[in-house]
Amino acid sequence: MGVQYLSWNYDQMGIVATLHLAEETENTTAWQRFLPTGPVAFLPLDSKRSSLVWSTTHAHAKELVKLPEEQFVDALNDAMWKQYPRRSTVDACTMWVGGMLRRAGLPDGAERQLPPSVRAIVPASRAAFPFAFGHSTKYIAPGVVLVGDAAHRVHPLAGQGVNLGFGDVKDLTDLLADALYTGLDISHHSWLQSYESVRQRHNVPTQMAIDALYRLYSLDVAPLVLVRSLGLQLTNAFHPIKKLIMSHATT
Ligand SMILES: Cc1cc2nc3c(=O)[nH]c(=O)nc-3n(C[C@H](O)[C@H](O)[C@H](O)COP(=O)(O)OP(=O)(O)OC[C@H]3O[C@@H](n4cnc5c(N)ncnc54)[C@H](O)[C@@H]3O)c2cc1C
Repeated sequence: MGVQYLSWNYDQMGIVATLHLAEETENTTAWQRFLPTGPVAFLPLDSKRSSLVWSTTHAHAKELVKLPEEQFVDALNDAMWKQYPRRSTVDACTMWVGGMLRRAGLPDGAERQLPPSVRAIVPASRAAFPFAFGHSTKYIAPGVVLVGDAAHRVHPLAGQGVNLGFGDVKDLTDLLADALYTGLDISHHSWLQSYESVRQRHNVPTQMAIDALYRLYSLDVAPLVLVRSLGLQLTNAFHPIKKLIMSHATT
């Protein structure tokens, strides 16, 4: 297409696998735990199985994919359950904010649910992929329209990659349907141009927000730990903020 493509690699790889859970549960919650090496996430498939996305350093990922499956499961349960040292100043601030929220009748973020344990992985379901950011400055060219990861790549920590692609397809088909309905040429530049504008207005800020989240969670300095802890606590407490983020993420 001869267009510019802006990209950078994250210093992380994602290990994916299909997991058999230790116990049958309702399994309707997606779990994500932010570890010093990157987030580990369980995404529900059915009452007995979840899908794994374990983001970690290249060296650690290479070790993990080589481990015998039983040892991999032990390492995974350890990653999900291990207790890390906590920062007492951050805990003190979140407890204080939690108290204020409770007094105001809002959720204080203190309630805890437990993630499921993993019994085994589906044999040979493990694989590792590198993570990168990618942005094509143009989504269209004569005879070409980019959708999905061809147009944009994001770190999967927010689980948004597929949604962005689905949004592209929906907006493109809506615009083409409008063009057909009004009897216009669907390959006309102005139709495709409005697809590009609409999608870039949505995708680029989402990509930048995900990149910022990645950076926010990559650093382990007390003020940033405090900012992200309070950010999550307040987002959880104020339903309109939560709803706004959810509605952006699902369009
Ligand atoms: C480890 C990992 C975890 C992820 N987790 C999540 C998540 O939890 N939630 C989420 O929403 N997103 C997640 N994503 C992102 C998500 O997988 C992608 O956004 C999504 O798959 C993009 O879909 P796509 O159809 O645009 O591209 P792809 O899925 O990449 O499909 C492109 C297809 O084209 C084929 N292809 C490429 N070149 C050619 C060619 N020259 N000729 C023919 N075929 C070709 C490829 O083989 C591929 O099958 C994750 C990604 C990774 C790597």
